[in-house]
Amino acid sequence: MILLDGKKTASVIKERLKAEVVQLKTAGNRAPNLAAVLIGNNGASETYIASKVKSCDEIGFTSTLIRKPETITEAELLQIVADLNNDDSVDGILVQLPLPKHIKEENITLAISPEKDVDGFHPENIGRLVLGVEAYTPATPLGIMMLLEEYTIQTSGMHAVVIGRSAIVGTPMSLLLSRNTQPGNCTVTLCHSRTKDLASITRQADIVIAALGIPGFLKEDMVKDGAIVIDVGITRVVDETSPKGYKISGDVDFEHVASKCSYITPVPGGVGAMTIAALMNNTLHAYKRRASDRA
Ligand code: NAD
Repeated sequence: MILLDGKKTASVIKERLKAEVVQLKTAGNRAPNLAAVLIGNNGASETYIASKVKSCDEIGFTSTLIRKPETITEAELLQIVADLNNDDSVDGILVQLPLPKHIKEENITLAISPEKDVDGFHPENIGRLVLGVEAYTPATPLGIMMLLEEYTIQTSGMHAVVIGRSAIVGTPMSLLLSRNTQPGNCTVTLCHSRTKDLASITRQADIVIAALGIPGFLKEDMVKDGAIVIDVGITRVVDETSPKGYKISGDVDFEHVASKCSYITPVPGGVGAMTIAALMNNTLHAYKRRASDRA
């Protein structure tokens, strides 16, 4: 079994991005700038935003963090997005989800300029992804593709089973794996909460992507020998022995599944770290695209 070390791979990718930023700055250009908007004080969102800002610092990007209270109205948030769209010094915009219930996420996603949509959630980018033309790809599935690529795992012809059909993870993951690319060229089965006899499907999989948000869901008897298992799940589970009072749990019963796998991602240190590297990759891409549009 080989551990797919997302943390280490993300550092390698971030080092590459850093080297590109050094070159850009040496040539007299400004650094790429990511604007992040955080509403309220959800603990997990705070952690995610903090790691994104930290990664920007490490790579040499600038970042603009806009924090607003839970009580912000949808109209006020839409105005912030419009201002960021019009701000030429901003290359990428992300609005950390989830948003308070009185704000319709869809309206905010739609308001972000597709050229600055580094999360890849805008319908235009999703549509472009479906068509297989250049698009900002949601960071989690992109990070998984980058991880498979870095480990030079040849996926052509494999049967990939994706568990979870969300618009930000499962659905784009299934599209990416089915494309005529390396990694890619898989035969993909997309499973969800209404799938019957899920275990009989996962047992046929050469690759399982578990993205449903149920800790330890994928058990030993659901995986065939030699499978590649990618664990997307991040759930905070109460743990009184930890100083934080919780631990992060993935969707895979790692302890029992790992020994059967050819490759497996750990949680933490797997997909989460790659998600941030992919977001940074998208931000540099947005910067370069905007620079070439101006040229
Ligand atoms: P979601 O809640 O939007 O979707 C969950 C999906 O799982 C749904 O499509 C549902 O049909 C499916 N599902 C639920 N129960 C099921 C069952 N018993 N059998 C089969 N399918 C079932 O979730 P999401 O936003 O895609 O996130 C999934 C998990 O990934 C969560 O733990 C989330 O925290 C994590 N996540 C991690 C990262 C990362 O960077 N590692 C990024 C995004 C999400």
